Amino acid sequence: MVDYNKPLPNVNQDSKEFWTGCKVHELRFQKCKDCGHIRWPASMICPLCYSRDTQWIVASGKGKVYTFVVYHVAYHPGFKDDVPYVVAVVELEEGPHLLTNIVGCKPDEVRCDMPVEVTWEDITEEFSLPQFRPIS
Ligand SMILES: [Zn+2]
Repeated sequence: MVDYNKPLPNVNQDSKEFWTGCKVHELRFQKCKDCGHIRWPASMICPLCYSRDTQWIVASGKGKVYTFVVYHVAYHPGFKDDVPYVVAVVELEEGPHLLTNIVGCKPDEVRCDMPVEVTWEDITEEFSLPQFRPIS
């Protein structure tokens, strides 16, 4: 945790609640109070109905692999010990598509539609990253 050398998230006013949730290992998303749409990335306005009336919900942390790619080259020096590693879009049960990593299995075992659940990497005092692993 002390020598974490990868890029850190850029937090803004909209995403602050998401990252605060991650720190306590909760996946928090905005839910539109008017149409019920659960959105990601966080934003001031619902992209479907333009409502500003929003509440935060905690997602189950379960979903499935929507798509993925295996990185064999480290495009940032912080990732050089990780290759090959999996970057995936996970479709959560609640709907949001999250760009993340698949861990806990070999890269060549990852499949589209594979059921996954969230697992947390505590990277610094301020940040925990949601990653996903296969549900066994
Ligand atoms: Zn809406």
